[in-house]
Amino acid sequence: MVTATSARPRPRIRQTQLFIGGQWVPARSGKTFVTVNPATEEPIADVAEGDAADVEAAVRAAREAFDNGPWPRLDARARGRLIHRLCDLIEEEIDELAALESLDNGKPVSDARLGDIPLALDCLRYYAGWADKIHGQTIPINGNYFCYTRREPVGVAGQIIPWNFPILMVAWKWGPALAAGCTIVMKPAEQTPLTCLRLARLAQKAGIPDGVINVVPGFGPTAGAAIVKHPGIDKVAFTGSGETAQIIMKQAADQLKRLTFELGGKSPNIVFADADLDAAAVGAHVGIYLNQGQCCCAGSRLFVEDSIHDAFVERVVAGSRKRRVGDPFDPATEQGPQVDKAQFDKIMGYIEAGKREGATCATGGKRVGERGFFIEPTVFTGVTDGMSIARDEIFGPVLSVFRFADVEELVRRANATSFGLAAAVWTRDVARAHDVARRLRAGTVWVNCYDVFDAAAPFGGFKQSGFGRELGERGLEPYLETKTVTVSLAPPGGR
Ligand code: ADP
Repeated sequence: MVTATSARPRPRIRQTQLFIGGQWVPARSGKTFVTVNPATEEPIADVAEGDAADVEAAVRAAREAFDNGPWPRLDARARGRLIHRLCDLIEEEIDELAALESLDNGKPVSDARLGDIPLALDCLRYYAGWADKIHGQTIPINGNYFCYTRREPVGVAGQIIPWNFPILMVAWKWGPALAAGCTIVMKPAEQTPLTCLRLARLAQKAGIPDGVINVVPGFGPTAGAAIVKHPGIDKVAFTGSGETAQIIMKQAADQLKRLTFELGGKSPNIVFADADLDAAAVGAHVGIYLNQGQCCCAGSRLFVEDSIHDAFVERVVAGSRKRRVGDPFDPATEQGPQVDKAQFDKIMGYIEAGKREGATCATGGKRVGERGFFIEPTVFTGVTDGMSIARDEIFGPVLSVFRFADVEELVRRANATSFGLAAAVWTRDVARAHDVARRLRAGTVWVNCYDVFDAAAPFGGFKQSGFGRELGERGLEPYLETKTVTVSLAPPGGR
């Protein structure tokens, strides 16, 4: 079902410049780029286009704030309070932020309002609570010494984020960095810079000192690469594609820069015949269609046990046909447009490849409407393991369905991918659930659920889905150094 598209309501766009050292400034080059509404293909705003010169200024501000500013020296609890204050300000304008997110990204405004932003608040508040709970240990080493560790902030964090969850990715990155006492140079994705800039303004209003958070919108090979290469940046946290991560890793090698990567996936969503099939059908949809399929952990490979395959697929297909695709500002909309033309073209290319390589397009496969980057919820059956739609991350509403007969074969095929971000298992058999969960090579395994995220639960990839973890206590680690202090207890002159 298709609903008409429109650009209403139009949230105010107040920040379009770079945010450096607490000042809103144009790019030194004077350049701007256009951010586009993916539902209408109309321009939303011109945004300052940062490059290496602007990153230089941002790093200088972040360095000054870290090396000489109050932030890392502030009472830890006071840092936590400022993060809480930022959350209060986000809550005060949650409707407007949701509208801005929807306008820039295309996701249904209700998803942003009820999903992304509450999760972002939860994450920031969770890490606000950590600020005064980060401490070292005393260690009983041999000899007459007092030995202890200190957990110190790693320094200036360069943070490069994607366009699929702009606000949430800001929270995942700022939360642990701020709690640890780091300062930040962030580059939002070129497709979706607006909410990150708005959040920077709110951080300033909350009283987070100038220079602690700096935001440089711009493109990857210019602004992004400058962050990666700058010697004043101590650590880079990146969420995006594996190809970009490889470039970043090479560029960071000279300085042995600390890196954390959250990359792509081709996650198996496994349905056994004994599962609650109503719940599993919903889970199959959530797995692939959440956020227009633009999730790194999308359950894009649906494995269905032989005996229920046909009936279950029928259900998934029927549900797919009913999904409401259209105007992200219509409260009834379940699926908005893909984020931009490049993603739209890439997904349509994979749909064509699926057909060409012999899979059956059971539903969908076409563009919706003539304006905006809308794609029908699409299900391919008869997919074999070698096809490109079975192997590559499509990052769109395209599900590939596989049939399996036994558990050994299933585990082998589910793991036969270079990715390892997430997986799900649907079964009523508790032993089998835990057994398969143990054998799947993935950073997150959901049992009888999908896409359940919590700020306290670590998230990240095995294999080429990345390294390091975000969220939870593990998510703090990349923003901390451990310093060991060893003190001789011998009296002066008595050694
Ligand atoms: P996607 O394909 O999902 O857009 P990318 O990896 O291209 O994923 O983009 C994720 C983020 O990485 C964006 O903010 C983008 O601008 C940035 N980026 C892209 N190329 C580079 C690069 N060479 N160096 C640093 N950042 C980059």
